[in-house]
Amino acid sequence: MTTSPVETEHLDVLIIGAGISGIGAAYYLQRDHPDRDYAILEARAATGGTWDLFRYPGIRSDSDLHTFGYEFKPWRDERAIAGADKILDYLRETASEHGIDRKVRFRHHVLDVTWSSSDARWTVEVERTDVGDVVTFTATWLFFATGYYRYDKGFSPDLPGRENFAGPVVHPQHWPEDLDCAGKRVVVIGSGATAVTVVPALAATAAHVTMLQRTPSYILPVPSKDVVGNRLRALLGEERAYRVIRRKNIAQQRAIWWLCQRFPRQARAVIRRINAKLLPAGYPVDEHFNPPYGPWDQRLCVAPDGDLFKVIRAGDASVVTDRIAGFTESGVLLESGRELGADVVVTATGLNVRPFGGIAVTVDDVPVRLADTVAYKGMMLSGVPNLAFAVGYTASSWTLKVGLLCEYFCRLLAHMDAHGYEVCVPAVPDATMAKRPFLDLASGYIQRALDQLPSQGDRKPWLTSMDYHADVKLLRRSPVQDADLAFSRVTGSGAGRAARPRPSTRER
Ligand SMILES: Cc1cc2nc3c(=O)[nH]c(=O)nc-3n(C[C@H](O)[C@H](O)[C@H](O)COP(=O)(O)OP(=O)(O)OC[C@H]3O[C@@H](n4cnc5c(N)ncnc54)[C@H](O)[C@@H]3O)c2cc1C
Repeated sequence: MTTSPVETEHLDVLIIGAGISGIGAAYYLQRDHPDRDYAILEARAATGGTWDLFRYPGIRSDSDLHTFGYEFKPWRDERAIAGADKILDYLRETASEHGIDRKVRFRHHVLDVTWSSSDARWTVEVERTDVGDVVTFTATWLFFATGYYRYDKGFSPDLPGRENFAGPVVHPQHWPEDLDCAGKRVVVIGSGATAVTVVPALAATAAHVTMLQRTPSYILPVPSKDVVGNRLRALLGEERAYRVIRRKNIAQQRAIWWLCQRFPRQARAVIRRINAKLLPAGYPVDEHFNPPYGPWDQRLCVAPDGDLFKVIRAGDASVVTDRIAGFTESGVLLESGRELGADVVVTATGLNVRPFGGIAVTVDDVPVRLADTVAYKGMMLSGVPNLAFAVGYTASSWTLKVGLLCEYFCRLLAHMDAHGYEVCVPAVPDATMAKRPFLDLASGYIQRALDQLPSQGDRKPWLTSMDYHADVKLLRRSPVQDADLAFSRVTGSGAGRAARPRPSTRER
């Protein structure tokens, strides 16, 4: 790899990542700050992030697209729970309608970012994987839309004796294009959203699919089509219906989450009853569908139109709750002594969390340890100037939060323009403020990564909310100016830009 001698390009904002968050951020930035130069640096050769990466059979959303989609662009498909192909079409249509696709620099893998207070700007080192160069950009602001997990490697626990198994062992994150499971016996290890998706999809052609889980998850059947929503579309037209359906679904998601948190025992009983109704008579519901934790302590899985339950009823799939002792040549040996015969094993065992795309952040020569920072409004870091990041909801649609924080980001820029500020940094007012994990989710992949994530505080604006309505208040309606956000003009010798108001932008 060589370092390119070409002149350094400067941008007002560099967005990192061209997934659903990065494309959304670009839309809001263009809308509210048309005079700002920006680019999106994307490590891969395509837009779409998650929805382009995963190729396993059946890959789809858990969320309805009326809340997972952008507020500004109606979701027009009759299916509310959608496959990755439809989601990708929607994202790419958005990017091309607004000329965002022309702003993406593909195969630009950001390695590290360094803030200089004297220059009031970031220096960004980027590996261009197409030409094998390292190039440098500078930017006044960074917006991290890098998602939350490693793209190059899914999570696989150590499975003893894996090398003994004669067939393929595949991780859903790296699904081989030519893998044909038709007529084969497949064991899917895992019980999260991916396992719940892939089992019914494979069961359509496989000889039999076994979902092998250590611990059951909550699985809720949901209609893939929103019947009321589709009627509303016919009645009100796309735009108005989208607004109404979105509001309805936000309320519905919030109500389910709230009921699960407030009345976990009752919620568990309701989910169990629904599951039992969909399973064959005499099915051991408590063995396979009764998790040891409360509903929504981990992400709730959905089964569109009850697909998982249908394949179990039809005898095409089954669930086994046990622990793996090891692999044999012809299958998986369980601690109970039972052996599951398999031709293919799928390790739907999760993701490796990688916050901030693995990018090293340095401020004035001091490396930033994310775990030492506190998230301000869930979207900036204490002590780190001019940097925002997009982490969405984990207990409802990710993008609901990302849309709000993009709006806030644009309001923040407008506020700085109006007052001639160039630097903005959140500062924890009280070093003794109690801290808690950034994400309150018991899921394994979050727990494995807690020491790589920032904390949240015990009071506003240092709380990371999972509540859409609270965030509407905080991010859309509350004033930008607040005691914990320090603004300044450039006084150093570096960039030497005068702190001047930019008349072309509006403070909203
Ligand atoms: C299979 C699956 C299904 C999911 N379903 C749902 C769902 O139904 N509802 C929901 O709310 N959430 C869901 N999620 C969570 C989901 O990842 C997010 O909701 C959403 O797609 C994340 O979008 P994003 O743009 O923030 O990140 P991503 O989609 O992960 O995109 C990040 C982009 O940043 C790029 N990038 C990362 N690091 C760098 C770097 N160093 N330099 C340059 N570029 C970089 C990546 O290449 C990628 O293109 C799902 C996740 C998975 C894995």
